[in-house]
Amino acid sequence: MFADLHLHTRFSDGTWTPEELASQACSHGLAALALTDHDTVEGCAPMAQACAAAGLEFITGAELTAQQTGDEIHILGYGVDTRDPKLLAQIARFQTVRQDRIREIVLRLNRLRVPLAAEAVFALANCRAPGRPHVARALVKAGLCSNLDEAFERFLKKNRPAWVPKFKMSAAEAIALIHHARGVAVLAHPGLNRTDNVIPGVVEAGLDGIECFHTKHSPGAARHYLEVAARFHLLVTGGSDCHGASKGIPLIGSVKLPYEYVEKLKDKIQQHKAVIANPLPGVHSGC
Ligand code: AMP
Ligand code: FE
Ligand code: FE
Ligand code: ZN
Repeated sequence: MFADLHLHTRFSDGTWTPEELASQACSHGLAALALTDHDTVEGCAPMAQACAAAGLEFITGAELTAQQTGDEIHILGYGVDTRDPKLLAQIARFQTVRQDRIREIVLRLNRLRVPLAAEAVFALANCRAPGRPHVARALVKAGLCSNLDEAFERFLKKNRPAWVPKFKMSAAEAIALIHHARGVAVLAHPGLNRTDNVIPGVVEAGLDGIECFHTKHSPGAARHYLEVAARFHLLVTGGSDCHGASKGIPLIGSVKLPYEYVEKLKDKIQQHKAVIANPLPGVHSGC
């Protein structure tokens, strides 16, 4: 049995609906999945339903944007209670910041004489957590760039002319928020951000796990992070980070996490819930 614990839907910058994602997961022979949309848990309820209908096990999640000593890192929160008021309040703040940032990016594009309207980005995104991929898709749709890579290379990458920095909470705040919502905090794709230097500090802040298996981790990188996990006594997770059909072949199926890691993650989630009286369900099992 295999799982994919890093997936995006239309509720952030993925292109698939929860139903489409569940159907893709089934066709790749997955038994379980977690939804990890950027800075939102809105997709979790429909994803739980879609997974139940498809006979897939579902674990709630989110990928929170954070920083540690100035470096951007992403922290995955698994098994979080998606109705937790503090988590929802923070997510609402993240969403406002993301929408303001889109307006600022568009303003910079307009100053560069690129005639894109913020409303075109919002209409295309059709979600509360819009990001740069939506701007890139809107640029391509309007015929202002020929593909997503061109949009990022010319305008949207860090330090390119329309790049706008994104609000980030500290890693310690993100981990505390995930724990408050009774979830388990995992450092996403450390090999992608090349942020090994921040790992000891993030562990100190209460990190529970590390994403060793990821589409952009080579076999050598995965082995390296398995060693890091052992050294710091961290859980091991993995996922494809599939965003749907935005670019080339969808990534789902490129990382198949052996189910034994899911068992360990679920044990940890249950430990976190056990210390709270009358825990609310954060993990839903399909048929
Ligand atoms: P944001 O959260 O708005 O800063 O956007 C970050 C997201 O942009 C990442 O999660 C990726 O999904 C996406 N991304 C980054 N670089 C590229 C690229 N060159 N092409 C397409 N998508 C990208
Ligand atoms: Fe993304
Ligand atoms: Fe990420
Ligand atoms: Zn992701």
